[in-house]
Amino acid sequence: MAAVFVFWGCLMSHVMNTYARLQVAFSHGRGSRITDTEGREYLDALSGIAVNTLGHAHPRLVSAIAEQAGRMLHTSNLYGMTGQEALADKLCERSGMQEVFFCNSGCEANEAAIKLARYYGHKKGIETPTIIVMEKAFHGRTMATLSATGNRKAQAGFEPLVAGFVRVPYNDLEAIKSVVEHNKNVVAVMLEIIQGEGGIHLASLDYQKALRQFCDQHELLLICDEVQCGMARTGKWFGYQHAGIQPDIATLAKGLGSGVPIGACMAGGRAAGLFGPGNHGSTFGGNPLACTAALTTIDVIEDEGLMAHAECIGALIRQLFAEALAGTKGLVEIRGHGLMIGVELDRPCGVLVGKALEAGLLINVTGDTVVRLLPPLNFSEAEARELVERCAPLIREFLAG
Ligand SMILES: *Cc1c(COP(=O)(O)O)cnc(C)c1O
Repeated sequence: MAAVFVFWGCLMSHVMNTYARLQVAFSHGRGSRITDTEGREYLDALSGIAVNTLGHAHPRLVSAIAEQAGRMLHTSNLYGMTGQEALADKLCERSGMQEVFFCNSGCEANEAAIKLARYYGHKKGIETPTIIVMEKAFHGRTMATLSATGNRKAQAGFEPLVAGFVRVPYNDLEAIKSVVEHNKNVVAVMLEIIQGEGGIHLASLDYQKALRQFCDQHELLLICDEVQCGMARTGKWFGYQHAGIQPDIATLAKGLGSGVPIGACMAGGRAAGLFGPGNHGSTFGGNPLACTAALTTIDVIEDEGLMAHAECIGALIRQLFAEALAGTKGLVEIRGHGLMIGVELDRPCGVLVGKALEAGLLINVTGDTVVRLLPPLNFSEAEARELVERCAPLIREFLAG
């Protein structure tokens, strides 16, 4: 079977070669278990990179989607959209934001945020608005979001990049102050409260609070990219809520529809009420099917108490890893919040992904040296124990070898 995949991947595939794919394909799943096309079962501790919030085939999500599909899948943003109205109400109530633009992915949500920040600048008379972004940030693969992303490897070959971004180190308010002091065109600061692709790096609570204050003083928009850390993954609806701050713009996607593509750009404070008809749009954005998936995801998270559960199970997983890896040479740090977990090693460890797959486990490595775990929010305590029991020995063997 493996040979067939290699054959397809290298020689025969008509799918553009943009991914280094593992040699496995899946057929179906249930909860945190997923079965490949050969009938082998895996424990899913990645959720399609923080997408399958409710795990696989959650009965309530399945029936809500089926019911909606039986009525209608799509109309158009030319018409009223009752699902968008209901979803925007729910999101604003939980996020403290005022209005929502719906799209289909994380990069689109961030494109909307970047356009909104530029528009805000132009309204203030700034003709070349600049957005401060972070080292190791990930905001997407479209031209503007790739330019905002802090990864030279991802950008190489795609220059010229979109202008209007200045990069600073993460968790460093002095660096932001010094940029703003010398550049009168700064209109916004954009960051992930927990950097996902960059290697599970957390913005400190003090930094977040001071940054909010600084943005207020200078009338800058604070943009939180919550595409990976939002949607209850850290134990609160949104990552910024742990510091008790309120951004002007927050973006969502990944876990919002629990597997059905949907993104959202939420605005409040200085960023609310800026866009009018014609300023932005999307054909598919917030269509009835996608909104049904997101509404159901929010309802299930609340009805099943998954927010508190995520924080608790995440803490358990980190603690179990700390016990299982205590004293292991080459272990740098175990960190994260809720079910967004990183185990940093002192060397590149991409091979662990394949070893885990062989051991029936879906995990990921990001930032070269960080084992990343993003289980579904309904991951059970037994599954948490199973994950660590199977994963920790792989890490120990790898570091010993
Ligand atoms: C995944 C991700 C994106 C990009 O989302 P896509 O849906 O792949 O466009 C943007 N920001 C963050 C923080 C992400 O993790």
